[in-house]
This record gives sequence, structure tokens and C-alpha cells, in this order.
Amino acid sequence: MKKVKLRFYGSLRDFLSEEHFAGNLPGQSRFFIYEFQGRQTTRDIIEAQGVPHTAVDLILIKGKPVDFSYLVQPGEYLSIYPAWRNLKLSPQDKLIPGLPGEIKFVLDAHLGKLASYLRMLGFDTLYRNDFDDSELARLADETSRILLTRDRGLLMRHQVRLAYFIRSDYPAVQLEEVLERFELLERIPENRRCPVCNRALEKVSKQEILDRLEPLTKKYYQKFSKCPDCNKIYWQGSHYKQLEELLQKIKKKIKFISK
Ligand SMILES: [Zn+2]
Repeated sequence: MKKVKLRFYGSLRDFLSEEHFAGNLPGQSRFFIYEFQGRQTTRDIIEAQGVPHTAVDLILIKGKPVDFSYLVQPGEYLSIYPAWRNLKLSPQDKLIPGLPGEIKFVLDAHLGKLASYLRMLGFDTLYRNDFDDSELARLADETSRILLTRDRGLLMRHQVRLAYFIRSDYPAVQLEEVLERFELLERIPENRRCPVCNRALEKVSKQEILDRLEPLTKKYYQKFSKCPDCNKIYWQGSHYKQLEELLQKIKKKIKFISK
């Protein structure tokens, strides 16, 4: 058997279990020993621990960056890092590709509420509750979308490069995770999208839709938009207000964390 030492940093430790550190002395939980046979790349070894390659931004061996195809030699010590705001890397050492010019998402079936939040903020977000894993991976790859999922296996597919493993069960916290991970607070689009069909909303005059409005909406709101696909009408009512408040909360929190 060949032995290596592994040390995972920051949020990558979310993927590890106590079993990884079972052979360690008390208090010695920074690294653990992994035994393997045959030829294994850094990627093979990292994913064998349950950590998807898509979460890893930097691997150091003896202080030098290596990529996912590096063949690990017995006795080596791998330091493995997630994407970290504070870790200023030169682009050629980063294993996670840079974000595309336009931020677009594709979400797995469990993230319906998060999909509507992202659409309401204006991000182009593909979501259907019947996409299967290979379809999700293909869409992420072919349409340069960030894949958001709670399925680790999906994040380990070769095709998937830009992705994030959602931790929380709560959609509002999930939104915070995504905005923080990809530093999107400064990149929220101008135009909102329909939370139901993802189409960009179009402005519509109040006069045009007057007959479709409830009396109170008619009385209190002046600005409206319409989805060209499902024809639904939107205004800056309570849903919009809730989302704005949530966004303000997230902004405060992220600013606090990054100080
Ligand atoms: Zn619509």
C-alpha cells in the first residue's frame, strides 16, 4: 500500500466525516493518512474522500501547485484548498475556471425555490424538476452555466467544471450561499425574470392591463411588468419587498464576513 497525507482546508472539510480522522491522535485533526494502490491522480485521491473536484481550487505539494492529472507519489503531503476570497492566486494555479461574462445557472430538482429567487433577481436560471443528472451536467457544460446542486455524485462528473454544492435546507440561506460563493452582489442584473418561466420581464403600461388588476393593486401600484411567455403580471408588491429585504440582510452579512 502507498501512503499519503491529506489536509483539506476551509469549506472542503464539510465533505469529510469523522472516519477520515479516526486513526489520528487526540487533537491531531488537521490532516489524515490515506492508503492507496496503483496509479492515482490528485483528482482520484481527492474524490475518493467524497470531496468533488469542482469544490477544489488549489492543490499544493511541497508548496507547489499541481493540477488534477498529477500522479501522486507515496509519502507526499497534499494541501487542498477551496475557492477562497482571501486566497489570491495567479490564474494558472487556480483549478476552478473563472466566471463567464454573463452569470447563468442550472439547478437540480430539489432547488425550486432557489430557482425562483435567482430568476426574480434577474439571473438566467434553468430549472425543471425532471432534469436527470446527465442532462444537468450536459447543460452546465454546453451552455456555460454554473451548476447548483445538493448531489455530490453530480459534482464529481468530468463534464462539470463550474458548480457549487448547496449546504443549507433553507432557500433564503441557499441564496446567500450562492451570492457569497460567486461574489455576485455586485453583479445582480438590471432586469428581473419571471420566477415561473425564466423569461426576462417586459415593462407594460398600467393602462394596458388595468382590467386584470385587483382594486387594491390598481390603487397602490403604478409600475408593472409582464412575462411574454406566461403572460403573468408583476408589480413591486409584497413578494418583491420580501426579496429586497432578504437581499439587504444578505448584503450586510456578507460585508461583515469579508471584513
Ligand atoms: Zn412567465
